[in-house]
Amino acid sequence: MSVPYFVGLDLGGTEVKVGLCSARGEVVWSDRRPSQAHQGQQAILEALAAAVDTALLEAATHQGEVVAIGLGTPGVVDPASGVIRFPVANLGGWHGTDIVGFFRQRFEVPAVVENDANCAAWGEYCTGAGIGARTLLLATVGTGIGGGAVIDGELLRGPSGGAMELGHIILERSGRRCNCGLVGCVEAYAGGWGMAQEWGRRRALPGESPGVSQLVEMGIAGDPLANEILDEGATALGAGMMSALHLLNPDVVVVGGGIIDARPRHLELIESELRSRVLPKASTDLKVVRAQHGNRAGWIGAAMCAEKSVRGGSGA
Ligand SMILES: [Zn+2]
Repeated sequence: MSVPYFVGLDLGGTEVKVGLCSARGEVVWSDRRPSQAHQGQQAILEALAAAVDTALLEAATHQGEVVAIGLGTPGVVDPASGVIRFPVANLGGWHGTDIVGFFRQRFEVPAVVENDANCAAWGEYCTGAGIGARTLLLATVGTGIGGGAVIDGELLRGPSGGAMELGHIILERSGRRCNCGLVGCVEAYAGGWGMAQEWGRRRALPGESPGVSQLVEMGIAGDPLANEILDEGATALGAGMMSALHLLNPDVVVVGGGIIDARPRHLELIESELRSRVLPKASTDLKVVRAQHGNRAGWIGAAMCAEKSVRGGSGA
């Protein structure tokens, strides 16, 4: 008898991560390939399909069969249809794409689509740092700030898929301009892009901002300005998350992303800031932990969303 496997895909601006999980979330195989994002919708769909083709072959060599496919993508995903609702930065033409329909036609296997931060939250909840949580809050620190929540075994999406925009909680009503068009968002202070911009401003070198990973490397190498900005970013995220604690009263907070993995001080500052401000009624028994799945969180979570969708109910 063949073993049931689930394909997980994590779509980014430069690459697609793909992997296979068992129904219990054990990782069987994983790979990455270019996402062709700069070439538009059709090229991205073909890149995803090629990744699934490879996964189907891998499943066969592991005496298994793919039961369902899950995709994590940037952007707002319509919870009912899986269609991308608004334009997505770095993914030209992705708005309006019916990925579920494309996968069904191509592979004759059920497919689900979910926002990438939601996938990360679901993956950590099912098989990572959030196992056993009743209410889980996840934050990811990358170029932007991602947010997700699982409450009593269900992702919190909102009726139009726009819930848990943690990065766009307002910290300063007349503060820095955010990529989203608003002013004073957490992301403008705590996201990699915002922090890198700030480095350029303070060095009076606008337009010569470092990349996010460069900024972190400078900090690790001891650059005082880089560390000052990174520390301010961590503190800003802690303050923003404090607001989310007051809304959700989670028992587990999971924080992930490349900066968190590279810079242990970052999570310490986030935790001390949020604990120093949160009201006791929203923080009793609160655990703050680092994400376990690292850069595999997106695709593992997508695979586990696929698993939930065929187990029963209407998607994770
Ligand atoms: Zn914003």
